[in-house]
Amino acid sequence: MPDFSLRLNEDQLQIQKWVHDFAEGVIRPAAPEYDEREEFPWPVVREAAKIGLYSFDFMASATVGDPTGLTLPVAIEEMFWGDAGIGLAIMGTGLAAAAIAGNGTPEQLMEWAPQCYGTPDDPKLGAFCVSEPDAGSDVSSLRTRAVYDQAADEWVLNGTKAWITNGGIADVHVVVASVDPELKSRGQASFIIPPHTAGLSQGQKYSKLGIRASHTAEVVLDDVRVPGSCLLGGRDRLDDRMARAREALENPARAAERGGQPAMSTFEATRPSVGAQAIGVARAAVEYALEYATERKAFGKPIVQHQGIAFMLADMATEVDAARLLVWRAAWIANNASYRWAEGSMSKLKAGRTAVWVTERAIQILGGYGYVKEYPVERWHRDAKIFDIFEGTEQIQQLVIARAMSGMRIE
Ligand SMILES: Cc1cc2nc3c(=O)[nH]c(=O)nc-3n(C[C@H](O)[C@H](O)[C@H](O)COP(=O)(O)OP(=O)(O)OC[C@H]3O[C@@H](n4cnc5c(N)ncnc54)[C@H](O)[C@@H]3O)c2cc1C
Repeated sequence: MPDFSLRLNEDQLQIQKWVHDFAEGVIRPAAPEYDEREEFPWPVVREAAKIGLYSFDFMASATVGDPTGLTLPVAIEEMFWGDAGIGLAIMGTGLAAAAIAGNGTPEQLMEWAPQCYGTPDDPKLGAFCVSEPDAGSDVSSLRTRAVYDQAADEWVLNGTKAWITNGGIADVHVVVASVDPELKSRGQASFIIPPHTAGLSQGQKYSKLGIRASHTAEVVLDDVRVPGSCLLGGRDRLDDRMARAREALENPARAAERGGQPAMSTFEATRPSVGAQAIGVARAAVEYALEYATERKAFGKPIVQHQGIAFMLADMATEVDAARLLVWRAAWIANNASYRWAEGSMSKLKAGRTAVWVTERAIQILGGYGYVKEYPVERWHRDAKIFDIFEGTEQIQQLVIARAMSGMRIE
């Protein structure tokens, strides 16, 4: 087990520079246009695929290939420093890959995760579909059903998924559905929906406040049939988990001890990465505001020489560093120990709030120029709000942390 260290190794420094150069040279210049057009940035994703940044190999080496856990947050911070919408267009597939890694067998991982990414010449997308119109935070109440057709050895899925990143434009969709609604989240399972499967279609595409380059849409499942082998983790594991859940239903005191909720385990593992996304946006805003404040003059001197502005910048930089420390700690723990007080949720909670606050302060520092589209800080502020919402809202992170701290059921 490597010691927790804030010193990045040579490989990590190289990756940091590599991603930063891509963010600066390719992502940032494209950002205003894709924000305005609200279109998926295929040319940028293709460029990222060509250099190997958008690939299963990169994700595998930055996650399982890195015992420190820091490579992924470092790379993500640079990417989102470039732009959050395009960053998510590049990273969104990672959520589907993480769901396959977290719930599937090693064989399923090797079969499906590379297909989520495609090849450098022909990149594809993956989508992780949990949320529904009436079930966002409360994932235990999913209505999408999966029914086993024994004669055909096929699962039949019906339902509507809401707010899905890459929904309908992905090649591989990973769908969480209820097999036994009575068991709530413990009766749910994750299914691979292979490319071009009949019955899966895109519903409405949402028009969003921020991260507009990322595609977010409904996914409609109408009698979607997939082979039995598309159940992640396999039938035996599901039957075993549901049998234990039924047993626990008869003994509610033991139910609290049972883990294995497919969607939640994926989110818990990916929360520090979402924190790193938020830090990328927040750091961009601090750097931009600092540079602006050293050039813009008011009352005969650069505004940074007015304490009101200088102290704001000092607080902004401090908040970003504090959030990054929590994210790096959570990422290290995820690889080397176990969370004690929901440190993954802590890191996402702090980083999301920091991004919203810091980008708002950056607008303040730019004054009127901060409020117009000619300057990027208004876009960064619009983008930042998503980090308080997806992959567990602010309040859900607080719930998870409070439960871990107290060991009590808090609703
Ligand atoms: C741009 C975008 C991309 C997304 N991508 C994906 C994706 O790829 N896959 C996917 O599955 N989902 C995705 N989501 C969905 C996202 O995870 C949900 O929007 C989020 O979990 C919140 O669910 P909800 O919108 O239904 O809000 P609700 O759950 O209805 O919450 C509404 C409000 O009530 C609060 N609340 C709810 N329960 C409690 C409680 N117990 N205690 C206190 N407060 C509570 C919430 O914090 C929130 O403030 C995405 C969403 C967006 C906006």
